[in-house]
Amino acid sequence: MPATFRTPPAPYRENAYTKGPGFCCVCGQPVYRFGWHIDLWDSGANKNANWHCACVIAWQFWNVPSDQASLLRRLQARRCGQTGGRLWKTAEVDHRVPLFRVWGEHRDAPWPALLDYWGLPNLQVINRDAHAAKCAAEARDRCTARYLASECC
Ligand SMILES: [Zn+2]
Repeated sequence: MPATFRTPPAPYRENAYTKGPGFCCVCGQPVYRFGWHIDLWDSGANKNANWHCACVIAWQFWNVPSDQASLLRRLQARRCGQTGGRLWKTAEVDHRVPLFRVWGEHRDAPWPALLDYWGLPNLQVINRDAHAAKCAAEARDRCTARYLASECC
């Protein structure tokens, strides 16, 4: 289990499941020359590598999606994902389904499916005021859920 709900699930990074040198710590497949997924030169797995190039980029994207805000803005035709209005310069990257809810509600899903919540399908750029309102509503829901849970138990 990762220490925080913000960390994407990656079982091959855990000591118990790691496959060792030559295997990717994100997807678990063998890493070949140049950090590729296929062995074009028939030289076998690269024992000095434990990441695919593509998996490094994916890992960076999942952990710091705000670095790709300009790409996300373009994909949304510069419209706010929450209100549909024009995106302002101060707009922020947001997870449609907040990661704390993924942790609480989807924990039993297989980990490759869970990664969708960290990636593009769950990301949107929204204006700062819409983001603040969304976060406040989520915090209120969390509070209510915690209160109800303590009432029940
Ligand atoms: Zn990989």
